[in-house]
Amino acid sequence: MIAEELFARLLAEQVVSNGLGASAAQRDRLLTVWATLGSIYLLDGSGEVMIDRDDGGLHPADESDRELAYVQAARRFPELRHLMPQRPAAAETCPRCRGVGELIFNNGVNRACCPDCNTRGWVPVARP
Ligand SMILES: [Zn+2]
Repeated sequence: MIAEELFARLLAEQVVSNGLGASAAQRDRLLTVWATLGSIYLLDGSGEVMIDRDDGGLHPADESDRELAYVQAARRFPELRHLMPQRPAAAETCPRCRGVGELIFNNGVNRACCPDCNTRGWVPVARP
């Protein structure tokens, strides 16, 4: 859940702050929080995540995509930090991305979401 006034302000600001899909997102009262090749992750005021795919339709997010959208929303908009998944006590820094949440290639030119931690930067510790 996002405070109504805060969400309205973020929607109004995204038209000037975002490029990809920002106008359509604002028309539908959705906040763009992340974009990959062919998919735009959108958040509504209740915290639901929709994905705008290249096929022209909006699709509900599955659990993994929802988490990714929340992590990116929390990183992009400090006011949405509360959406960041809580790191459990039994977790360790992701060994693959070293806690960054992204994999960086070509001296920083290319970046990708870390698939091992779904961009959280931590992974749960497996219990024996
Ligand atoms: Zn990782």
